[in-house]
Amino acid sequence: MARDDETTIFTKILRNEIPCHRVYEDDHVLAFLDINPIARGHTLVIPREPAVTLDQLSAESAAAIGAVLPRIARAVMAATGAKAFNILQNNGAEAHQAVMHVHFHVIPKHADGSGLGIGWKVEKLGDVADLAKAIADAV
Ligand code: AMP
Repeated sequence: MARDDETTIFTKILRNEIPCHRVYEDDHVLAFLDINPIARGHTLVIPREPAVTLDQLSAESAAAIGAVLPRIARAVMAATGAKAFNILQNNGAEAHQAVMHVHFHVIPKHADGSGLGIGWKVEKLGDVADLAKAIADAV
């Protein structure tokens, strides 16, 4: 789904109106270095389609990103020497999305500890049979 307002910073990057360090592009996808990296090689992969969140992205763009993400992850690891990486994908301001254009972070985890830190607070699973059914019905 397209936005009404197509003026995020990533739209400007897609239009070549502001510079970036491009590492990959095709008809559907652009990848470039994050301007505020949390690790050397921190890369952003975005669709050309102006969707805000992943759930709004067309199947065509989603497939294009899915096809190229492993390649970009391999390239980031090859170029930086990282042996591990995280994919981070935030949707909505409450979920820490700052730029309202779908993007995937490829974040290498380096031996010096730089990279994504994760706080993972586990909850009890409880009785989720109805929940599983509700999600399954909605897919
Ligand atoms: P998020 O919190 O998932 O929306 O992350 C947005 C990311 O975009 C942040 O990591 C920013 O550092 C990055 N970013 C913002 N502006 C630019 C820019 N002009 N070039 C490259 N990365 C950017």
